[in-house]
Formats: sequence, structure tokens, C-alpha cells
Amino acid sequence: MIARQPIEGRGEPAVLEVAGRRIGGPSFAMIAGPCAVESREQLLETATVVQQAGATMLRGGAYKPRTSPYAFQGLGQEGLRLLAEAKAQTGLPVVTEVLDARDLEQVLEVADVLQIGSRNMHNYPLLAEAGRAGCPVLLKRGLSSTLDELLMAAEYVLREGNEAVILCERGIRTFETAYRFTLDLAAVPALKERTDLPVIVDPSHAAGRRELVTPLSLAAAAAGADGLIVEVHPRPEDAICDGPQSLHAAEFAAYVEHVQAAAAVAGKVLSGLELTTVG
Ligand code: PEP
Ligand code: MN
Repeated sequence: MIARQPIEGRGEPAVLEVAGRRIGGPSFAMIAGPCAVESREQLLETATVVQQAGATMLRGGAYKPRTSPYAFQGLGQEGLRLLAEAKAQTGLPVVTEVLDARDLEQVLEVADVLQIGSRNMHNYPLLAEAGRAGCPVLLKRGLSSTLDELLMAAEYVLREGNEAVILCERGIRTFETAYRFTLDLAAVPALKERTDLPVIVDPSHAAGRRELVTPLSLAAAAAGADGLIVEVHPRPEDAICDGPQSLHAAEFAAYVEHVQAAAAVAGKVLSGLELTTVG
């Protein structure tokens, strides 16, 4: 097989189309939903709220990479089934994580975008399998990975002939302990110098607490990010996973309005809404 040319130095920004939604170029994607699929009620309630507020896609993990093996690991197949129900109900494309290549077939039944998490950024066989699956991939930067390493990880997907890769900055390990990770916003323009792939930002896992999520989101949008992936929960205080960093569903519509204004500064329009905005 002939490997494709490394992505560095390519031309026009790629505009990916996922189930009719655009991401990249002028289109800003708002990917929102719970950290983990916890129950039918929790997922459907969140999905409805984010769809009504103009989200581009729904996020939610059925397989969760947890630091402790004793922590909730996700609902697995039942979670995937619930995501399919949420997709049918709201029409939102689904972004969900694949942790293990052995789950790929099942995950592909519902995923419109396969998420490869930070902890798997260096899992090269999984990246190659995802590349062969032909489904768009959202690739998160490893917790302690350089931009070079992120770009090379993306190559593992791209070289299989899958050009639909979205890069995601989600915070890196530094000496700072005031928040969960340090959001490296310079990664947005720095990656854009080197790749035409869409670059999005996850303010939730970087911040670790909701008070920081809106300011980081605004900064990311103004810095030219092609979208955000953000955690939202109807009752964050009851969340099984990542409640402290989840936005309250009741506040999500106001959040989207703020982010839209910041995205406009960078010349971007919320994806999904451009089709319904009457000019
Ligand atoms: C997630 O987005 O669900 C997640 C676990 O994020 P990360 O891989 O960036 O830690
Ligand atoms: Mn989470």
C-alpha cells in the first residue's frame, strides 16, 4: 500500500460533512451531551435540550476510559442502544468513544463519529482499525502528547484512506493544579499552520470544573477552533461521571448564544443553524 503524504503543508481547510452537518472552514460544530450515557431518561433529556439549543452533534460515552478500574465503566451495549434511540428522536449525529477494537463493529452501528480518547491516542492498532472502518474519527490529544505526536497519530487513520479526521485539544498535563489539565489554546492556531484537518477544543476535560468552561469555550471559538465538544447534564450533581465539569442543561441555550458570538469573531457560523437562518 502507498502511504499518503503527511498532512503537513496541505492546502485548503478541509470541510468535513457528517450526516449532513459541516465542520471546518466557516462551519463551527457544537458537540454536546453527557460524559457518559447513564440512563434512558438522562440521555434523552440531555439530547432534547442540546438539540433545541442548536447543537450540531450529540456526545455520550457508552464505553468509558476511567482512571480507576473500580469506577463506572459505562453501560456498554445498552449505552449504544440508548444513543441510537436519542439519535432517532433528535436527528442529531452521534459522537461516541471506541475504547477497544473488539467493540468497533457494535460502536459503528450507532456512531456517526468515532471518538478516540486521550488515553488511546497512542494505540496505533486501534487508530488503524478506525481508519479502515471508514467512519469519521474525532482524535483527542494525549494528556502528555506533543502536537507532532498528535499529527502522527492522525496519520495512522489517514493512511488507511480515511480523510475524515477531527483533531481535539483537551488540555495537557502541566505543573498547574488549579484545574484538571491546562488547556493549550496555542494548539489551535499552531495545528492550523500544519494541517487542514478541523481542530476542535474540549473545555470540559481541560477545566474539570464548570466555572471555567464558558470562558475557555469563548477563547477557543475566538481563537479559530472549528468547534467544541462539551459535557452537559440535566442534573450534574447526580452525574455518575464528570458532574463538576458538566454544564447544567438548563443553561446550555445561553451558553450556545455566547459561543456563537465568539465564533462569529473568527468568521464562523454554528453548523446546522446556517441552513435554517433566513438571511
Ligand atoms: C471523553 O471525552 O469522554 C473523555 C474521556 O475525554 P478524554 O479522552 O479527553 O479524557
Ligand atoms: Mn468526561
